[in-house]
Amino acid sequence: MPVCDCHTHLFRRDAIISATSSTILDANAYYSVGIHPWNSAECHNPELMEHLFSLPNVVGVGESGMDMLRGADEKTQIQLMERHIEWSESYGLPLILHCVKSANQIVALKKTHRPNQPWIIHGFRLNAHVAEMLMKHDIYMSFGRFFNPEALRLIPDSRLLIETDDSQMTINDIAELIGEGRNTSADNILTLSANTIHTLFTKISQRC
Ligand SMILES: [Zn+2]
Repeated sequence: MPVCDCHTHLFRRDAIISATSSTILDANAYYSVGIHPWNSAECHNPELMEHLFSLPNVVGVGESGMDMLRGADEKTQIQLMERHIEWSESYGLPLILHCVKSANQIVALKKTHRPNQPWIIHGFRLNAHVAEMLMKHDIYMSFGRFFNPEALRLIPDSRLLIETDDSQMTINDIAELIGEGRNTSADNILTLSANTIHTLFTKISQRC
């Protein structure tokens, strides 16, 4: 089954499941592992995470990112995100980011750290102006149930990513919505998202 769902919090085999160090991982599913910015004010044991990144089915780092409306103060969130950037670079895994009122901070971190690994802002709902700015900095965006249609149409086929996130909808339902927004079929959207996922997440493409 091709992986076509870039980010979910439910158990789905066709998706990259967002996990924490305490998640029990299923060997037949794909995961990204990180500390969500909402939990940035809590205590963490980074060593617990580090051995997970070497597992063959942990294919990404995150959900990391920044949220200016929830979680720890900005400085703490930046430090935590920098930790995830280090993991992403040293284990060679793409970084999945949550971004609430922090697009400028994320771009500033990208300029400072100049990562080799792709960065993906998931659940992208912001406008075309922000989408353009992020693409200029080579940041990917993943689209789910709620999105700005103008921003969605700006994304080239080769960068398209879709996701279910915490929704109960299936990835086919999401692909229908995104397909309507881009004047194409749901099947085409599923194929494009799977292609982008396979290009960015090398551990997935190596396994298939
Ligand atoms: Zn999420």
